[in-house]
Amino acid sequence: MAYLTKAPRGTADILPDESYKLRFIEKTVSDAAALFGFKEIRTPVFEHTELFQRGIGDTTDVVQKEMYTFEDNGKRSVTLRPEGTAGAARAFLEHGLFNEPLPQKYYYLTSCYRYEKPQSGRLREFHQFGVESFGTDSPAQDAEIISLAKHIFDFFDLNGITLEINSIGCPECRGNFQKALRDYFDARKDELCETCLGRLERNPMRILDCKSPVCSEIAKGAPKVLDYLCEECETHFKAVQKYLRAMDIDFTVNPTIVRGLDYYTKTVFEFVSSSLGAQSTVCGGGRYDGLVSELGGNSTPACGFGMGLERLKMILEAEQKSFPEDERPDIYIAPANADYSFEAMRQAELLRRDGIYALTDVSGRSLKAQMKFADKKKALFTLVLGEDEIKTGKAKVKNMDTGETSEVDLGALSEKFTSLLTAHRICGASESGVISNLTLLDGGKK
Ligand code: ATP
Ligand code: MG
Repeated sequence: MAYLTKAPRGTADILPDESYKLRFIEKTVSDAAALFGFKEIRTPVFEHTELFQRGIGDTTDVVQKEMYTFEDNGKRSVTLRPEGTAGAARAFLEHGLFNEPLPQKYYYLTSCYRYEKPQSGRLREFHQFGVESFGTDSPAQDAEIISLAKHIFDFFDLNGITLEINSIGCPECRGNFQKALRDYFDARKDELCETCLGRLERNPMRILDCKSPVCSEIAKGAPKVLDYLCEECETHFKAVQKYLRAMDIDFTVNPTIVRGLDYYTKTVFEFVSSSLGAQSTVCGGGRYDGLVSELGGNSTPACGFGMGLERLKMILEAEQKSFPEDERPDIYIAPANADYSFEAMRQAELLRRDGIYALTDVSGRSLKAQMKFADKKKALFTLVLGEDEIKTGKAKVKNMDTGETSEVDLGALSEKFTSLLTAHRICGASESGVISNLTLLDGGKK
């Protein structure tokens, strides 16, 4: 039955030949977050459905069509998180983190769930690196999170990533803009899709985000939000741009960006990659000053972004960046036959206690088959344990790259082997994979 042997559509298994790449990406982005003082937060994979309805907004695509919502056995409606911001804001409130020094800056690496049509760069279970800052309305904070995302793309030395920014104002100036939009779309309402007709009354700004070709064509001529900003929003937006310029961060102002979630105010931004196909946005974010009060807290300005890890990995692969090789076993200890298996296990155990990556036979293979296996695993060294070795207490360690052998004392294997390994790492660094991340990433191009 296919149900038993096929994962649900839109999900992806991450197998060992790929997981090391994601681990590298995850380490890189979390190290970058740490440089900016963002601390890790982990929130539950499911939340009360109301949190997302309230937080993300009833008129958004995410809430209307994309959520994995179900009733649990206690008859409560719960939803798998479609994004990370609402959960972080809930935790900020629930734990009184507003009493801590502000801004509170969090980052997360998390899975998200959206019932979307699976295609390249669009999954039903995907992963995000996200950051959120709660408690400051300064444009410096908007610019700082943008610079964090930029820092990550620069670290990976990506080409063709552009930053587009916009301001969608605050509830005050947005009122006038919504009115102008409603008038504009009302005049062409016969042409709008069914969903947008519904949006016309409740949230006409959402029409600007519609993916249908007809609606997006009509949207091109719609009033531009930047013409409606109040003085405060305009000053804020100008200051964000000034900070970006001060940090040498290139950007273009794109007045059509509105983002897909209702909680945004003022700054919104997207990083777009020319190496991705149709799903070209790798990172999207902005300011959401209204979210915390929408959830029942005191008014708390905030901003953040979400970066799709699958999309980031796709760009790295499209641009042929190399990842640090998955770690090779330091040593493979091969018992010549089953009689020596106990000693092999003991020696491997002793080495591991000293932090050495050691493999030995756990399948009862012949010596020949073991050597083949060690080769496939790309073990740096091998050691055979047989009658002679046990009798004399001495064995030969073979460097699998050079074929060189060295004699070691089995009574103090770890000590001798550690010095062999250190020498190998210093001389043969490029083979053993012990190079700084940056050099490796350049490796693809040089
Ligand atoms: P899109 O326009 O691509 O649908 P979005 O506006 O819905 O994106 P956000 O909610 O802002 O996206 O999420 C932030 C980032 O998460 C996106 O820029 C993208 O990189 C990633 N992302 C969003 N939805 C998916 C998905 N279904 N599959 C893979 N990655 C996704
Ligand atoms: Mg989307």
